[in-house]
Amino acid sequence: MLFLIALLFAVMVPGQDVRFKGKTKYLHNARAVVVHSIDDSTKYVPETIDAMDRHGIKATLFISTEEDPAPEDRFFTQLQVRDLWPRLRKAVGDGHEIGSHSRQHSCKKPDDEAFCAAAYSEYEIAGSRDDILRLTQQPYVWSWCYPCGNCATYPFIQKRIAAAGYIVARNYPNELQNGHVRPDVQDFDENTMNAGYTQVVQHRNSARSDTVDLAALNAKFDEVYAKGGIYHFMSHPQWLDFGPQGFYESHLRHAGRKPDAWYVPMGPLYAFRSLRDRTEVKQESRNTFSVRNDLDKRIYGGTVTLEFAAPEGMAVRAGHDLLAELGQAPQGRWDMEYVRRDGGSLYVTVRPRTTLHFFQPAAPSSITGAWKLSYRTRNGLERQSTLHLQVDGNKVSGTLEGDRGKAPISDGVLEGNRLRLTILRKGNNDEVPVSCEGAWDGGVLYLRLAFPGADAIPAVGRLP
Ligand SMILES: [Zn+2]
Repeated sequence: MLFLIALLFAVMVPGQDVRFKGKTKYLHNARAVVVHSIDDSTKYVPETIDAMDRHGIKATLFISTEEDPAPEDRFFTQLQVRDLWPRLRKAVGDGHEIGSHSRQHSCKKPDDEAFCAAAYSEYEIAGSRDDILRLTQQPYVWSWCYPCGNCATYPFIQKRIAAAGYIVARNYPNELQNGHVRPDVQDFDENTMNAGYTQVVQHRNSARSDTVDLAALNAKFDEVYAKGGIYHFMSHPQWLDFGPQGFYESHLRHAGRKPDAWYVPMGPLYAFRSLRDRTEVKQESRNTFSVRNDLDKRIYGGTVTLEFAAPEGMAVRAGHDLLAELGQAPQGRWDMEYVRRDGGSLYVTVRPRTTLHFFQPAAPSSITGAWKLSYRTRNGLERQSTLHLQVDGNKVSGTLEGDRGKAPISDGVLEGNRLRLTILRKGNNDEVPVSCEGAWDGGVLYLRLAFPGADAIPAVGRLP
């Protein structure tokens, strides 16, 4: 009888339980996706990336990796590719992807089976992949692009590309007929080893079908965006104009910074599809859910977004890390973990192979004290410091004391159990503001420290 009463009571307490509603179609529950890809190792690549970054566009940069070819062998002779690597490394850090465009970019017009068999060697396919892994911090090389659009239709070539670990290969149809068809692919391409795109945005003097009619380019974007599709446009930097008034940057401005679009390179997008489809969410107990898949973490290291119905005020831990609650704006990366509330839904974006714990943070009495704070830096170093907090009303003051000395706290606010403050660390000649937010739960502080220009890192504080 007591059991029955308890059961009845549990069922009748309204709004306390969490319910899994499903995986979202795109990351962040975005309504549409924007993908860009650019081809060739020319001196125009840095300027092109700069233009993308001004408008929040993320791209796959297809690079032919031969480091130092003889001058007569250089493709687009403006540059030796080794001069590009520092800028490419920065681009990877900023959320772009480096894809392979072979090592030497051999072309034959028209191609034939004998040419393809010889040109698609281990040296070109696996070698360029290894160059990218060696010369950038990228954990994997997902994407291939067929030089000159050659050989993309031969199944034995597609097999070689897949065997080297590439999960998607982009084509460039009809280049050999002095122009291109507009593939007009508006979703994932089912043939991932001969994958198309929506349209080209470039102007090659000899190519009759290239368009720089900005109204037509923008209208195609609008069509895909309105349908909630995947808008993938490709360009060759050597066939662009630059500057805010040119067609290229005007189109970037039109397609960029939509608050409900996901900006992502091609490889991570195709990896996301597998991640989304293969991840299973299982309720383990009342407010605990396991998130699992059997995919290779090196290839599928991104995040998925899970929609839950969860009462107001609920916080989420993935493993031991409290997930930061972020706003509506699209995130610049495909592997960040966070939660976002939208009405009655809580969108949880996490790397699978974790356990989610939903909890109502305990009501605060006081967080005044000397908290031992531990965290792991981006470089993998374990750090310990002491966070001295004093609370007066909802104002929080104090210092952070570590091996770099004492840093004062400013703008500290405690709202319910949620804490927000800024730590002013001394730089060389200035103060570096480290913003810090999180929650206090059951005597433990779960914080996220955001250094300027970097993703937030989790920190856990305990009173000794
Ligand atoms: Zn090319």
